[in-house]
Amino acid sequence: MIIDGWYCCPHCKQKLFKVADDASCKGVRLKCKKCGNEIAVTI
Ligand SMILES: [Zn+2]
Repeated sequence: MIIDGWYCCPHCKQKLFKVADDASCKGVRLKCKKCGNEIAVTI
């Protein structure tokens, strides 16, 4: 999920990384540093 230009963890709302308006991403899995959940990043 993207909030104010930041890709945020859908579980704990932690800001993970900044995304550009024209960014696109799929097939990337990332572990949230805060809650430890693995997130499938899709932009
Ligand atoms: Zn999290």
